[in-house]
Amino acid sequence: MTSEDRPGPAGPASGTGTGSTAASFHEMWRDLRPVGRDASTGGYRRYAWTGADADCRSWFRAQAEARGLAYETDRNGNQWAWLGDPARGDAVVTGSHLDSVPDGGAFDGPLGVVSSFAALDELRRRGAKFSRPLAVTNFGDEEGARFGLACVGSRLSAGQLTREKAYELRDADGISLPQAMEAAGYDPAAIGPDPERLARIGAFVELHVEQGRALDLSGDAVGIASAIWPHGRWRFDFAGEANHAGTTRLADRRDPMLTYAQTVLAARREAELAGAVATFGKISVEPNGVNAIPSLVRGWLDSRAPDQATLDTVVAAVERAARERAERDGVDLSVVQESFTPVIEFEHALRDELNKILGGAVPVLGTGAGHDAGILSTSVPTAMLFVRNPTGVSHSPAESAAEDDCVAGVLALADVLEGLACR
Ligand SMILES: [Zn+2]
Repeated sequence: MTSEDRPGPAGPASGTGTGSTAASFHEMWRDLRPVGRDASTGGYRRYAWTGADADCRSWFRAQAEARGLAYETDRNGNQWAWLGDPARGDAVVTGSHLDSVPDGGAFDGPLGVVSSFAALDELRRRGAKFSRPLAVTNFGDEEGARFGLACVGSRLSAGQLTREKAYELRDADGISLPQAMEAAGYDPAAIGPDPERLARIGAFVELHVEQGRALDLSGDAVGIASAIWPHGRWRFDFAGEANHAGTTRLADRRDPMLTYAQTVLAARREAELAGAVATFGKISVEPNGVNAIPSLVRGWLDSRAPDQATLDTVVAAVERAARERAERDGVDLSVVQESFTPVIEFEHALRDELNKILGGAVPVLGTGAGHDAGILSTSVPTAMLFVRNPTGVSHSPAESAAEDDCVAGVLALADVLEGLACR
């Protein structure tokens, strides 16, 4: 634990009357902090249905029970903590996820879940009277670190991932999603769309650490999301010919690493030209020997852009560049789209309501990162709050947020929940 990646102790009351809110936030943060943290990198490895995930889930359940909330898991393994009877419908739901990318930061996901419980504590201190049921959630497998598909829990619930497709998901060790769920004590036979549950939700609000520097640049602690850029993942298989690295003449090689390298550069160039982002962040090489020309290089392209047409242009241009180079290198190329999420505009009415509740002076910003809130937005009115990230760094142990900003996020979320659920 370093001083940068934790919000720090609550300390003496700040004079704003928020001392106990800061304390309840900090207490939860401290409990959750060591779970799934790798000692050598300082990053989090909280992958779906692993031991670290189970520890996060136990923590969630304990928080629910400590507050007298009705705890349940849904058919897809997402966790819920209810205040009031969900059967009444028109519920206000808040939450995020607790899993992480490989060596992820402390804030992406957990900040939203911890802030949700802390906001509920704040509302109880205010003596709020709830006119709608309220729930805190933890959506399972948001990052897709283990099975390669993001937002599995919310996608299943919203009917955007079929049971059949989910059953085909496998991790790097060949363990299938149902096997992993079963090993973690969940019933994979139950997974599938959950329209009745979603129909009971009147509004879903997810608080998240910002994954960029817009708030830092504007000087605001908290912002509201406007839209999530369309984004997707494409697998590029470059197939060449394995051979001896010492004895094969350069002219005789069919080296897919060369094609791959050129494709990475093309992705960067095309993204820059279009005002988009494109990244090859994952690669696998066969036979992966230091003295062998590879037979296969498999690289995964992640690309996102402000609109669909721009994204299509970028990906098409990257593929074209890859094919041209593959021809020269004597390499076979296949490109498969592994996942895709269209642009998501958060519901304008709810967004405007949040803005009104927060006094109208809150910046509204788009993001290139996907979220459960984006998946749910096709079924439920959703909105997001972002908390300032001073470096913009995310998906890294260096991800950070200041304690004061975390508390400001909790208070903003409490205001929003009060405005929505207590009128
Ligand atoms: Zn997240």
